[in-house]
Amino acid sequence: CGIIGIVSKSAVANRLVDGLKRMEYRGYDSAGICTIDGGTLVRRRAQGKLINLVDELNGNPASGDIGIAHTRWATHGAPTTHNAHPHATDHVALVHNGIIENFKPLRNELIGKGRTLESETDSEVVAHLISERIEAGSSPEDAVKAVLPTLRGAFALAIAFREYPDMLIGARLGSPLVVGYGDGEMFLGSDALALAPLTQKIAYLEEGDWVVITRDGAAIFDEENNQVEREISTSGASA
Ligand code: GLU
Repeated sequence: CGIIGIVSKSAVANRLVDGLKRMEYRGYDSAGICTIDGGTLVRRRAQGKLINLVDELNGNPASGDIGIAHTRWATHGAPTTHNAHPHATDHVALVHNGIIENFKPLRNELIGKGRTLESETDSEVVAHLISERIEAGSSPEDAVKAVLPTLRGAFALAIAFREYPDMLIGARLGSPLVVGYGDGEMFLGSDALALAPLTQKIAYLEEGDWVVITRDGAAIFDEENNQVEREISTSGASA
């Protein structure tokens, strides 16, 4: 339902939760964040209101200067903690807005290959499909590039890679995603409002676009994987 991602040089957990708060108006049933800290994916999730996630983080902080976060409005799988996003493998953590319509055959294929899925969501299959390719030696870019055309439905995605703590990848098809430009830090958000306290410089991804963000900037690609420029507006939240 709500997505935010930050690649920074300072701690991100509080800013991720603040971004989720700004998207509370959309409604949600659970929430979660995942940072990368010292080569580890640090994942915290909670059912119900954001205060439950905040309580969880107070007991079990998530340090790190890169991370993704999500408020979930369940479409597939009950609104429980283990179905909350981010979904993760040993290599990849991912948040998803929308619906992966062909998740059942994809899921069966993954299970047939001996992979264990821990949730009932449509979203988790995407984490495994990308992870499979990373495990086989693909770069994050190549893994995402290969998996996106296999997905049917609507999605905005933000993906973190345990072995690559300097980048996040975002993608959109049928569900909005924006890129926020900071000073030595970069952002992803499902709406500009979530990023309003962080930056006013926003680029709206177009249908089929995917993006690699690092602390230094963004590389945006269209559905045919051609690198493209998308206009950066400076009005941010008014759009
Ligand atoms: N379809 C996904 C799920 O049920 C994402 C829902 C959302 O957009 O929050 O987990």
